[in-house]
Amino acid sequence: MPIDLELLHSKLEELRKKYEHLQYLDTDPICFPKKYKDPLDIEVVSFISCLYAYGNVKSIQSFLKPIFEALGPSPYQSLCVGDEKFEHFLKNLKVYRFQTKKDNQIFFRTLKRVLQNLEKKSPLFESKFIEGQTKFTAESSISKFQKFWEEELKITKGNQKLSYGLQFLIGKPEAKSPKKRLSLFLRWMVRTAYPDFGFYQRIHPNQIPFPLDVHIQKLIRILGITDRKTFGAKEAYLIKEFFKKINPADPLLYDFYLTRVGIIERCNAKYEKTICEVCYLKEVCLVFGSATGN
Ligand code: SF4
Repeated sequence: MPIDLELLHSKLEELRKKYEHLQYLDTDPICFPKKYKDPLDIEVVSFISCLYAYGNVKSIQSFLKPIFEALGPSPYQSLCVGDEKFEHFLKNLKVYRFQTKKDNQIFFRTLKRVLQNLEKKSPLFESKFIEGQTKFTAESSISKFQKFWEEELKITKGNQKLSYGLQFLIGKPEAKSPKKRLSLFLRWMVRTAYPDFGFYQRIHPNQIPFPLDVHIQKLIRILGITDRKTFGAKEAYLIKEFFKKINPADPLLYDFYLTRVGIIERCNAKYEKTICEVCYLKEVCLVFGSATGN
């Protein structure tokens, strides 16, 4: 059955109004950069937060919270200075899922060196997506950014091959994966509307692939937007193209609000009376429709 775009749009708007409040930021890694005022701090904290934004929100937060506490009121400054306090910070880093303590130390040493070599000017990393290109392109810009970091991480490692954890952290430039963590970072940096920051002016919000995290992957299936079970770079662009039909200038507008359905409402893509009966999306949800005959 074709999707009723008007109905879907009105339900997404209801969802947006429900979750467009500061109190819900704590359920998302964007809560970390939101604590800072200086764009340099916001960009650096956003980059770190997005790279480690895999796994559940609680484990992401319990790993990142002590890191940002240790980096003090200006993580950008602390990393740039890189004095003995920074060495102490490195010693106290923990393991995070696929990243060993050593991986995390290499990552932060690399980030420090890159920041020291960059001009102290916001935005810091936008040009790394489009260097040598006239504009951002779906096919190559994120890979270009990953290649830059891959090379920098290798330099820190004395030109040795990256460990699994480090390669996972930055992703494989040549992979046809959805690159969801870097798409999320771009969403934060490019979109100007709530809850994002909009520092990157050379990239348009309608160019960014949809960040296909596990919640979005489930939701786009049960909303009938796709029947795919596996997701790659192609799907991230196709889903963005779908949302362009609803909002051509800003197709990622509903990303934050849709993920709240998974994170806060605990939607598991299965009919569960207590959850589904109060869900704002029930009228457009295939699972709800087939379970209740509505
Ligand atoms: S109605 Fe239920 S299954 Fe459908 S989106 Fe809402 S919570 Fe998820």
